Amino acid sequence: MDFELNDIQKSVQQTFKDFVDNRVMQQAAAIDENAEFPMQLFKEVGELGFFGMRYPEEAGGTNMDILSYCLAVIELSRGSMSLAAAVTMQSLMATYFLYRFGDEEVRGHFDAAMRGEEIGGICMTEPNAGSDLFAIQTNALVKEDHFLLSGQKTWVTSAPVANFFTVLAKTDNHDKLSIFFVPTTLEGVVVGKKIDKLGACGSVTSEVSFDNVKVPKNYLLGEIGGGTKCLMEILAEIRIMTAALSIGVATAAFEAALQYAKEREQFGKPIGKFQAIKMKFADMEVQLQTAKHYVFYAAYLSDNDLPRHKESMTAKLYASECANNICDQASRVLASYGYANEYPLQRYLRDARFTLIGGGTSEILKTNIGRELGL
Ligand SMILES: Cc1cc2nc3c(=O)[nH]c(=O)nc-3n(C[C@H](O)[C@H](O)[C@H](O)COP(=O)(O)OP(=O)(O)OC[C@H]3O[C@@H](n4cnc5c(N)ncnc54)[C@H](O)[C@@H]3O)c2cc1C
Repeated sequence: MDFELNDIQKSVQQTFKDFVDNRVMQQAAAIDENAEFPMQLFKEVGELGFFGMRYPEEAGGTNMDILSYCLAVIELSRGSMSLAAAVTMQSLMATYFLYRFGDEEVRGHFDAAMRGEEIGGICMTEPNAGSDLFAIQTNALVKEDHFLLSGQKTWVTSAPVANFFTVLAKTDNHDKLSIFFVPTTLEGVVVGKKIDKLGACGSVTSEVSFDNVKVPKNYLLGEIGGGTKCLMEILAEIRIMTAALSIGVATAAFEAALQYAKEREQFGKPIGKFQAIKMKFADMEVQLQTAKHYVFYAAYLSDNDLPRHKESMTAKLYASECANNICDQASRVLASYGYANEYPLQRYLRDARFTLIGGGTSEILKTNIGRELGL
């Protein structure tokens, strides 16, 4: 096995590291505090080619492997989970189906989204359907020359600033799921109030309702009832990407605490010299390195078209749980300063919570991993 990153991967990592150190770090606290979508940084991430990393060159992308994409995501979430959540949503879930199934008109929106000129959101979750996606009630009535879409969605990332949505709905109240492209300019699309939340506050999130929206026939993405199969195409990648988000925020918390442990003195010596603090760092190091390497392994499987269903769930489950533990332990190293808004530890602790939910909750992943093991 080769554990060395290749030259392209190293260059991607360095590019996003420099961008985060020079552009994101000093703005991250304000992005969170003001709960405002980081529009300027979003555009700059677009200029770095991030949105096209996972798409082929003929679609305007750079055809990078998932490992390179993960390296970029880790750097971005090391700087700001708000920014990282917004840009990963744009690069994968909001745009993938436009690329995969869109006609010329829809692909025009995909192209604009790749350049960061349009913003997309994905509408799956509903007030009464979260983990149980088959329970969604949003429905598209099939009319002669259009669909009539009605329903209520919630927790839609980037909805307040979105130009279009990728919407999961039933058709004619049948059980099977379908996917639609829905520009926010269509009559009857209403973006509700922003959801005030615990973390990733600059990644703005809203309810969205569809009130008898006339959706043109060419905005159906894929086949009627083909939605579940389509979602399965990107499920593993969504989970690996969420695992990478976890590694980034955990790295930020670890590095901040390590620096603090070397500088803060109590009882006449740096607190890092106390055995209790050293033990914490050893535990954090083990979790961070094993989680990171398992995420890279899942990315490697995916890049080589090897089975990765169970491994992507394992990576996401383990990385998100480790990230939450590391943020907790790192915050304890700073004690009162870990509790102060002036220091970033409280932000990391809040932001890491998101990774336990997006891409499947830990309970759902454990259930599915158990099923994969034949239980
Ligand atoms: C910051 C953020 C951004 C989001 N962005 C988007 C977005 O852009 N688009 C979108 O569509 N959605 C988005 N979501 C929603 C997210 O996908 C859902 O929150 C997630 O699917 C879980 O659904 P739920 O919150 O309704 O929890 P529920 O499904 O109601 O779960 C509640 C609890 O029950 C447990 N549970 C549920 N079913 C089972 C079971 N069968 N076995 C064991 N335990 C179970 C869960 O693990 C959890 O602990 C976002 C969420 C957050 C927090």
